[in-house]
Amino acid sequence: MTFTPERQSDRLYHELLAPKETQTVRASVRKIAEREVAPHAAAIAGGDERTDGFPWQVFNALASAGVFRIPFGGDVGGDGLSHPAAATTVAIEELAYYSSSMAAVFDVHCILAGNALRNGTEEQRQRWLRKVTDGSVVGAFATTEPDASSDLSPEVVQTEAVRTGAGWVLNGHKRWISNSPVAGFVVVLARTGTRLSMFIVDTTLPGVQVGLPDRKMGNRGQLTADIRFTDVRLSDDDLLGGTEGHGLRHALSTLTRGRIGIAAAAVGMAQAAFDHTVAHLSTRHTFGKPVAANQHWQFLLAERATEIENARSLYTKAALRLDAGNPSPDPEAAMAKHYATKLSVDMARDAVQAFGGLGFARELGADGTSVPVEAIYRDSKIGEIYEGTNEIQKWVIARQIFGRDIAG
Ligand SMILES: Cc1cc2nc3c(=O)[nH]c(=O)nc-3n(C[C@H](O)[C@H](O)[C@H](O)COP(=O)(O)OP(=O)(O)OC[C@H]3O[C@@H](n4cnc5c(N)ncnc54)[C@H](O)[C@@H]3O)c2cc1C
Repeated sequence: MTFTPERQSDRLYHELLAPKETQTVRASVRKIAEREVAPHAAAIAGGDERTDGFPWQVFNALASAGVFRIPFGGDVGGDGLSHPAAATTVAIEELAYYSSSMAAVFDVHCILAGNALRNGTEEQRQRWLRKVTDGSVVGAFATTEPDASSDLSPEVVQTEAVRTGAGWVLNGHKRWISNSPVAGFVVVLARTGTRLSMFIVDTTLPGVQVGLPDRKMGNRGQLTADIRFTDVRLSDDDLLGGTEGHGLRHALSTLTRGRIGIAAAAVGMAQAAFDHTVAHLSTRHTFGKPVAANQHWQFLLAERATEIENARSLYTKAALRLDAGNPSPDPEAAMAKHYATKLSVDMARDAVQAFGGLGFARELGADGTSVPVEAIYRDSKIGEIYEGTNEIQKWVIARQIFGRDIAG
């Protein structure tokens, strides 16, 4: 038995930044998420990666509802919106309100794999992006290796593509690759000589081997696994953008979009935890009055409401700067990512505390009561880690403050 609380953001957050088009997308994705994601959210959050597998039913429903079209132009089957980045952020916030896993699946499929393909040639974009927008293949994006992630310098990345007469031969080992157990293609960062390049690798090619899904603390519907590439034969058509040596630039610009998305997902989780907490504290009585009558909780929720306001405005500003043509909208992107993801963890911990014992439970034996704050607590933590840890985000901001000569 689950309970849907009142959306406090409808009363507390006044939308002055996002264009009307973005607000329309939010309203539409909210309905889709209520219908297609919410009924499955608890099962996905409480599942096991190896036995429950990929949430195909929800993925396919989101594809049918057109959610994967939102970030992309009409030339590849997308919606062709005037503010695609802003629309994408509100979509991911609305998905994360119910399911961090589904928001992460959307993030990797569209914001990472899909946006990396924007750097592709016209032929590559037509071949792959159309399938991303209609959801007929799942996309993945691979930069991380067992010994390379925060540091992606060419000396550190070990996956290597070597030119042969007929194209390229790829060897290497990637780790933590989201969606990889079900992906049709993966955009891979690899060393080519002394520089880095990206390749679009069809996962059905001989020599591509995806490992067992990892078992994780949260985001269990977001399947991650290692991928090994052993003498995988690629053609020049698989080199992203057709030009060697631009891999790091493509990867970092894609991850910039990604971290704005992660910020928006964190706001969705924080808002859900906040809404459940307000509802519970208003109705749960101790010492003859609602728990919310204690100033401790009033002040705490007042602080969190302020932080959610700030986090949403920050990610919106970063997305609007992207839409205005700035490919690297810092400091807002880095600020939004570290601020929002810390907030979602803090708000989730507060929510568990506010619910008392019920906050620690997945489901009550007596009557099946279930509140999602336990899942939000587990799911929210990864936001502080992936797509550039929060320490790296603060470094990005510090570089803007002090310059690279001092900050490195
Ligand atoms: C669920 C999940 C999904 C993921 N999905 C993908 C994916 O789809 N594709 C992909 O390529 N990768 C993916 N990753 C990898 C993810 O992006 C990395 O885990 C993340 O970037 C951190 O890298 P690391 O784990 O190697 O930590 P490390 O780089 O080893 O860092 C360890 C710690 O050291 C800190 N640190 C590092 N450098 C500095 C510094 N200069 N100053 C201060 N502190 C520092 C970090 O902040 C961190 O706290 C995923 C990871 C997880 C867990």
